Amino acid sequence: MNAGELRVQGIPVSHIAEEFGTPLFVYDADVLHEVYRTLRDGLHPAVDVFLSLKANPNVAIAGYLGSLGAGAEISSLVELMTVRRAGIAPENVIFLGPGKTRAELEACVAAGLHAVVCESLDELRALEEIAAEAGREEVPVLLRVNPDFHTKGSGLAMSGKPRQFGIDAELLRRSRPVIDGLRRVKVRGFHAYMGTRFLNAEDLVHNTRQILALAEELSQTLGVPLETVDFGGGFGVAYFDNEKDLDLAATVAGINEVVEPFVRAHPGCRLINELGRYLTALAGTYVVRALYVKESLGERFVVADGGTNHHMAAVGVGSFVKRNFPIRSLTRHGQEPEGVYTVTGPLCTPNDVIGRKVPLPPVAAGDLLGVERSGAYGPTASPGLFLSHGFPAEVLVHRGTAHLVRERDHQEELLAKQRLVDFGPPAVNGLPGPAAEE
Ligand SMILES: *Cc1c(COP(=O)(O)O)cnc(C)c1O
Repeated sequence: MNAGELRVQGIPVSHIAEEFGTPLFVYDADVLHEVYRTLRDGLHPAVDVFLSLKANPNVAIAGYLGSLGAGAEISSLVELMTVRRAGIAPENVIFLGPGKTRAELEACVAAGLHAVVCESLDELRALEEIAAEAGREEVPVLLRVNPDFHTKGSGLAMSGKPRQFGIDAELLRRSRPVIDGLRRVKVRGFHAYMGTRFLNAEDLVHNTRQILALAEELSQTLGVPLETVDFGGGFGVAYFDNEKDLDLAATVAGINEVVEPFVRAHPGCRLINELGRYLTALAGTYVVRALYVKESLGERFVVADGGTNHHMAAVGVGSFVKRNFPIRSLTRHGQEPEGVYTVTGPLCTPNDVIGRKVPLPPVAAGDLLGVERSGAYGPTASPGLFLSHGFPAEVLVHRGTAHLVRERDHQEELLAKQRLVDFGPPAVNGLPGPAAEE
């Protein structure tokens, strides 16, 4: 072990890399705990914190956050299986997504989730039919609204324009006959999600205020109760050097100020704050090993054993200046940068760059590098099958022990689903072989 290297809960990262191989994702449960607790302890008790599995669907991550009290927001059958296996109670799970299949809706009804978040009037009709077939008297739903107020500050705005998500507020206001016609589907409240990567407290507070006001208005217009309002989330973390982390204390204080009068007016109403990135990003590091260090036309490159195939998000944003995720030498942790390196993965595409001109201490083949703040939208949002490398191992360090929480894809497994066709004997002089003439 190298004296200067990074340790996770006391374990040298080189030991983790040797035991489980590279590339891999390492998650630190202490960081998950710290982030969750700080948020939970700060937020008004009427607000429940739900994990959006989309950001990190690993069963151990969901299991750990679930054990701390988090609910879950899911969008597929496998995510439903995941939260069950993770031990999260159905009354703390909601299922959303604009394209739920019949099988998914049936599974939601059978599982008795807190709510299905319906995203179209058509979906309400489908669910009504399914409830009737299943003989269910009451299937709780939230109506996902595409709000008509303005938001700002999101890296990716999700509302206020034509979208496949949710039901336009304007359409909902005219839909009382549809809601009144529902027999088995019980509207419990509303859901709105304004987008992702908000880094400004004021924007998040503004969104929350507007969503709660809209929910109040719609509940009156439509004559439905306010038992639950999910006001989304979209809390960001800073990745790039032009960004600053969210001021959580200010965000939570501002949200609580908005929530306080709302829950006084609607006692017993459950509020949900659903978060993916914020709950998981800081806890994860993508660990790669430098295979080669080389120079091309005056620029130094580190070619690592993993890249955008596992961490597409690290490609960065921006059309002119590509911004880098925080990348550190884990082998020479804490050592001063000696120069800049462009860090690439092993893929045969010039886009496989996880950091451009990254200031690093000297890098040699065999060194470990880490892309920090990578616990969200890593493997789940990456083209892991590109060049048939498959997905990497994932390790969760909990109470000083490193647990393998996802095996890396094995070569045989990767090929096992493909089928070779029997093409008969090889063609001779461009003519088909004898087998083809039978
Ligand atoms: C993606 C998504 C989330 C999670 O977003 P983060 O920015 O990662 O917190 C929550 N809710 C909905 C509806 C989403 O689509």
